[in-house]
Amino acid sequence: MPLYEYHCEDCRKDFTLLQSASVNKEETVCSECGSSHVRTQMSTFSSKISQRSTPSTAKAGPVTADELPKKSVLNLPIPKHVSEYHD
Ligand SMILES: [Zn+2]
Repeated sequence: MPLYEYHCEDCRKDFTLLQSASVNKEETVCSECGSSHVRTQMSTFSSKISQRSTPSTAKAGPVTADELPKKSVLNLPIPKHVSEYHD
């Protein structure tokens, strides 16, 4: 569940709410004065996304060279240990 940061434009207080994506943000009221004049800030949430997007875009490039040797190893016939069947 994402954490939403709100700012009340009536009492100028910041408050944080844990809300699901299905919750109507328009109906969110200030936890201090009950005013509906609140706006979403989501500063902590968006900063986390921008931090994660940097390494993922760099990895989205030539990643095939890293996967090719892995596939060829899987296609090799795996030698069975004879000792396990020697019962
Ligand atoms: Zn308020």
